[in-house]
Amino acid sequence: MKRSFLMLLWLLLGSGMAAAADVAIIAEGKSDYQIIYPDDVGNQHLNLYHRQAAEMLAQALLCSTAVALPVRAEKDLAAGQPGLYIGACRALSAAGLGKSSYQRWEHHLVVKGKDVFMFGDDWRGGVYPDSSRHNYCILGSYKSTLTFLEKFAGALFMGGAALADSVPKRSSITIPEDYHYDRIPQIQYCISRGKDINYDLANNFLPSPWYGSHGGHSHSRAILQDKYFATNPEYFALRKGKRVTHPTRPQYCFSNPQVREMIYQEVLEHLDKGYEIVQLAQSDGFWPCECPDCAALYGVESFGEKIWIMHREMAVRLQKDRPGRKVCIIAYGPTRIPPQTFKDFPDNVVIELAPYSDEIMASWQGYQVPGGFVVYLYNWGYYKPEGFMPKQSWQFCQQQLEKFHASNVKGIYRCGFGELFGLEGPTYYIWGKLLDDPKADPRELLQQYCQRVYAEGVDAMQKFFQLLDERLQLVVSKSEIDWNDPELLAGGLSLTRHPVQVIQTRYPDAVVAELENLLTAAEQKNQSFLLQRARLEFDYLKHTARAANALGRFRTSCAPAEAQSLFASLAARKLVIDSLPCNKSGNLADGSGYSLFGGATPQLMRMGGRLSGPLYAPFQWDGQWMLDRAVVPAGRTIRVGDSTVQYLVPENYMAEDLEQRFTKAGTRIFCRSGESSLQVIFILSPVVPQEDFAKHILRVTLGPEKKGLFSMPGRCKNGSRASCYKLVKTNLENAGKGDVYEAVAGNKTVITIPAPGVGTAPGEVAIEFNIPYESMPRPPRHGETWLFNACYGSGDIHGSSTWEHNFNQETWRNTRDSQGKIVF
Ligand SMILES: [Zn+2]
Repeated sequence: MKRSFLMLLWLLLGSGMAAAADVAIIAEGKSDYQIIYPDDVGNQHLNLYHRQAAEMLAQALLCSTAVALPVRAEKDLAAGQPGLYIGACRALSAAGLGKSSYQRWEHHLVVKGKDVFMFGDDWRGGVYPDSSRHNYCILGSYKSTLTFLEKFAGALFMGGAALADSVPKRSSITIPEDYHYDRIPQIQYCISRGKDINYDLANNFLPSPWYGSHGGHSHSRAILQDKYFATNPEYFALRKGKRVTHPTRPQYCFSNPQVREMIYQEVLEHLDKGYEIVQLAQSDGFWPCECPDCAALYGVESFGEKIWIMHREMAVRLQKDRPGRKVCIIAYGPTRIPPQTFKDFPDNVVIELAPYSDEIMASWQGYQVPGGFVVYLYNWGYYKPEGFMPKQSWQFCQQQLEKFHASNVKGIYRCGFGELFGLEGPTYYIWGKLLDDPKADPRELLQQYCQRVYAEGVDAMQKFFQLLDERLQLVVSKSEIDWNDPELLAGGLSLTRHPVQVIQTRYPDAVVAELENLLTAAEQKNQSFLLQRARLEFDYLKHTARAANALGRFRTSCAPAEAQSLFASLAARKLVIDSLPCNKSGNLADGSGYSLFGGATPQLMRMGGRLSGPLYAPFQWDGQWMLDRAVVPAGRTIRVGDSTVQYLVPENYMAEDLEQRFTKAGTRIFCRSGESSLQVIFILSPVVPQEDFAKHILRVTLGPEKKGLFSMPGRCKNGSRASCYKLVKTNLENAGKGDVYEAVAGNKTVITIPAPGVGTAPGEVAIEFNIPYESMPRPPRHGETWLFNACYGSGDIHGSSTWEHNFNQETWRNTRDSQGKIVF
């Protein structure tokens, strides 16, 4: 009893005292304060940003409280009036605050008497001396000003929002007496394409103006293939006896001393622009030079090891040439494994891990890397299997940043970020705050975000994002993707990582419907910019998920109703994408220039992403075209003597050709009986000149069973004869590498153009593909059902169409592995 009374007394006194000790900056619509910025800190760009911070602070406080504080240079300050001081003002030294040197991005917020001081590491190096972009500055004082607004005015800086939307309305702004906030960020930078200065700095996406990054690779900057391949092919890697190059990923002959010298000289030139550290990194999609001198280089076999030794030698040389400067060497592709012939790096080396994983970090145990580690991050970007959909759960974000802090990671390059400010906005916010404090609570951060951004829609949106986050925790594959894989970079992806699987796992129709309900509930209460953005991004997700789920059902049942649902979803998906606004360059962006979906093109969106993002067939097909013709592209049956035409669909799982040659050709077939023969009639609209058309291939596959199936290709030319191949090994027997056929001689199948007795419209042609019974595996009996397929190949792999599409393709080798049915 007595104890709780004391407790109560303590609480009353305690809170009363705290209130009395608060310094009121703005109270009841009034303020004595002025905002002061330094007269001149000796650099025009820093002067600009000090003044900009002061004006931004005044503007934010005005938006919040409707009180306008005067903004003054220190020489003009009004004596006797308290101040909000930004940067290294004379008053800062007079107050005994400020330092002669700071750690990177160190920042402080200190209350002394009635004055508030916001200051820290302000630095402008020598790079691009005329540019006033904030990315070339360290702006500790500006960061501290934003911190003041976040902590004491309730500000929250979100992507693309106006300043007025970033601060809540308040009648007073107070700060505790003798308040002290001192911060030295452990993660000194976190870069990628920036947003605006307030967003970047408030959310800890700090620029690194001391680091000259090429975004990944330096060799191709040192030896430009455009400049040197014609004159000095010997600089480039030898492959199959020839020197070869590549427009974006040229590889080099490291045993050539001139090559090594040029790589090193680029480091010097880059440093001399004013950087303290620059990137030193091999080309993307590495493959080795095949010359004998390269094989012998440094007396080691592994090319990763050769690169490590070469880069280390350059670092040692740099110690003498540019004392105090550094190189950032990439651990990526061939150098993903640490060096095996040495364990110590000179003190001017920083290692950039690409990627970072527990296993990779553990492999660096016992190595001396005095410069520490930085990370190249693959969290976001539409090159991921999720494409244009949300990617990371908060659990993942928190674990990642706890690990970065524990392993003393100093910097981060984000490969891709900011594609989805509607659906990923809270995750960006949470991740940004965890950069500074990995122990912060994501649920609390979510609540802050939702309250600030969605106002009355807060409850619905909090539930929306929690449900989304639960779904993102469902992971289809934990195996790491090798982003250096030349085959992946060249677009030759195996379907084993099919993004459709990810979508089906995370977004069943019921989940999509629940998300839709929550979003709609929020929309009835709030129409903020970021909620509209969430709607736009969700509509893409919704239609894509519906199509993926319908595809799953269709693959199982091949039912016409499921085909209809699939193509209706695809048609709706296409409409959503086609209705998105674009800028003049054809990239998705709203009227104010704010980029949508990472500024991708509509074509790329229809694809679903790049690298491991693309959604393959039937996602790029024209759903409306299929609906109009009631096409059921698999599990098909055709009857001999039924003249109802059936349309062909693309054969390959990849269909980047959005002109959709197959829809233009409108190829369709029916089957009729000839004299002791089967006649497959192809009707198509040639979209190319007659001579090219003659090179096109028609193909009929048939037989009573899979084994011994006949496949007969022939040219689109009157009187030409088809060849014949017999199936000798199925895909299953061939370890997934596709059905195997061998040639059969003496087939008497003949192609006749035009097909006798078939009416066609102008521009169309009917072709008779006449297969005598004697040229079949055996003569069919009347009423018998066989396996059957018919294809039209217009030259390249994307232009081939087929009657029965194989929805179980793993690679291009499987395009022709399935057949429908023919009834004689
Ligand atoms: Zn070589």
